[in-house]
Amino acid sequence: MTENVVVLGAGYAGTGAINKLQSELGGNARLTWIADVDYHLVLHEAHRVIRDPDVRSDITFPTTQIADPSTRFIQDEVTGLDVDERTVELADGDDVEYDHVLIGLGSQTAYYGIPGLEEHSLTLKSLDDALEIHEAVSEARRDATRGEPAQVVIGGAGLSGIQTAGEIAEFRDEHRAPIEIHLVEALEEIFPGNDPEIQQALRDLLEEAGVQVHTDDPITEATADHIEFDEGEPLDHDVLVWTGGITGRDAMENADLEKEHNRVNTGANFQTSDERVFAIGDSALIDQGDQPAPPTAQAAWQAAEVAGENIARAIENRPLRTWEHEDKGTVVSVGEKAVAHDVKPAFGISLPVDTFGGLPAQNLKKMIAARWIADVTSWNEARKSWSSL
Ligand SMILES: Cc1cc2nc3c(=O)[nH]c(=O)nc-3n(C[C@H](O)[C@H](O)[C@H](O)COP(=O)(O)OP(=O)(O)OC[C@H]3O[C@@H](n4cnc5c(N)ncnc54)[C@H](O)[C@@H]3O)c2cc1C
Repeated sequence: MTENVVVLGAGYAGTGAINKLQSELGGNARLTWIADVDYHLVLHEAHRVIRDPDVRSDITFPTTQIADPSTRFIQDEVTGLDVDERTVELADGDDVEYDHVLIGLGSQTAYYGIPGLEEHSLTLKSLDDALEIHEAVSEARRDATRGEPAQVVIGGAGLSGIQTAGEIAEFRDEHRAPIEIHLVEALEEIFPGNDPEIQQALRDLLEEAGVQVHTDDPITEATADHIEFDEGEPLDHDVLVWTGGITGRDAMENADLEKEHNRVNTGANFQTSDERVFAIGDSALIDQGDQPAPPTAQAAWQAAEVAGENIARAIENRPLRTWEHEDKGTVVSVGEKAVAHDVKPAFGISLPVDTFGGLPAQNLKKMIAARWIADVTSWNEARKSWSSL
């Protein structure tokens, strides 16, 4: 009997899993890949598009370049998953039946019920989002003067917020534009939950780039022209970008699976409360003991390898592998600069210090993205993208 395997999403989770499944599945399985866009976006470099929209062609790869001729690709929005009927529901097309499905739909922005935030802020979760931020910043600077600079406020100082602030600072400098950039974080430190050494190194780079960092004061309300804080004075904005949190996709709302805020709970083998449904990446809360796996590209990429293999094993009724997230370290950009922390030895090179910047960190950041692009396409594509990474 032919098994129908369906993969949802074309991010790190979906693309990585498709790659693995294409090599793992034998002739008795049919593979269908569904995403709302017909390209894979290297989302962890999407902030580069805010500075320069031309970068988009270097960080997007058509699904036709990744899918084998035998893989059926459907471009449509997933609106639901019926685990009893074993169907994926689509916005435009007919339901798609599955024997096994992998959820890799990523996450959407969380607003935590802060009044006005959703209505008045831009988000960064897709290529279109990055282009919209570029347009908004460009328009704000056209109306600005040295006496009245454009106010760009970024809420949330995690990976996306820090890297967005860095790119807008580069944009300001390249265009000699009158722009003031504020990075706002509710908690005491930027890059919360990480080592104080990298937190400080990132803060130093941001301040050097002229980004005003505000910490330890949560936003309580957003309006069309300002944000209010729990304690501090209100801050005006011409552009407000909110990157302060993630939640699961609305498409999973009615799926009869164990989940929290629409992020689907899985065991360390990626199986959900329904044994035919697997989930990885930001869509999933993957059991790793005390904490679930982090919502990072790095984790999604690692998980995809094993998830693809586990679906092939499930079809053959073989035992599933368990996965352990390995933190290979962190590299974060602030414009052209970067900071690396706790990077595990690779390519036979071990590193004498925990936290470092300069050219080694910049090149490491490029190397990580290039390696991913090479994995899903080819080293030739990675080489072409190098200057934009
Ligand atoms: C600006 C930015 C910088 C980041 N920097 C880093 C970093 O430096 N290091 C790091 O490790 N992580 C970083 N991250 C986090 C990282 O990008 C995410 O953790 C990673 O993208 C998760 O992979 P994913 O495949 O689960 O989701 P995604 O990459 O978001 O992919 C989701 C896929 O599903 C598709 N999709 C979504 N909804 C639907 C639907 N309803 N129907 C059909 N298709 C749908 C999307 O189009 C996409 O193809 C960053 C994130 C951002 C936004």
